[in-house]
Amino acid sequence: MDSLKKVKYWIFDLDNTLYPSSTNLFSKIDKLMATFIIDKLNVTHQEAMQMKNDYFRKHGTTLNGLIKNHKIDPHDFLEFVHNIDYSFLKKNTKLNDQIKCLPGEKIIFTNGSKKHAERVIETLEIEKNQFSIFDIVDSDFIPKPEKKPYEKLISQFRIIPEQSIFIEDIARNLRPAHELGMQTAWLINSDEWASEGHGEDHIHYKINKLEDFLEKCNLLIQ
Ligand SMILES: [Mg+2]
Repeated sequence: MDSLKKVKYWIFDLDNTLYPSSTNLFSKIDKLMATFIIDKLNVTHQEAMQMKNDYFRKHGTTLNGLIKNHKIDPHDFLEFVHNIDYSFLKKNTKLNDQIKCLPGEKIIFTNGSKKHAERVIETLEIEKNQFSIFDIVDSDFIPKPEKKPYEKLISQFRIIPEQSIFIEDIARNLRPAHELGMQTAWLINSDEWASEGHGEDHIHYKINKLEDFLEKCNLLIQ
């Protein structure tokens, strides 16, 4: 845990990280992705589900697969799939307090859109102005775990990788962070697609609850 003392850049994934996967928010986005594919590509529900899952696997995000194979307008897609009701996400005072206490910069690094990230933060009642957001548009639509967006993130925010930690629930998305010299923390997610590779050495810390982990970090730093 001692290496956490030198962290000056706190990089957070958004979905299923700043809020738990048990909220099922992401499954709502998932359903809208399928609806978008059915409408745009005129396919059956079953074909859309297959496409969505195949593209997620092969291209990192469903969106990236749709851009590559069907020249979908990414902005249309992002607007459509994030048009959800956020009200069942609850205020998280402890998370806000712990994030506020962390020394240094806080950055959200998401394969989703900025607007979606802002809505999530607002609903959790986490102070928005403490974060920078690096979204899929900033990533030039190249999603994690491709290495390019990590490199762009590092150069854009002048991050010193050795003084940073990336916290995320999809284990394989932590590999490039580790390879670039960042510390990594995996927010335990039992879904098969999220936990794949979690036993490997690119995972430095395993977390059950984000706010508890940050509390430990803050106690260590003080
Ligand atoms: Mg996530």
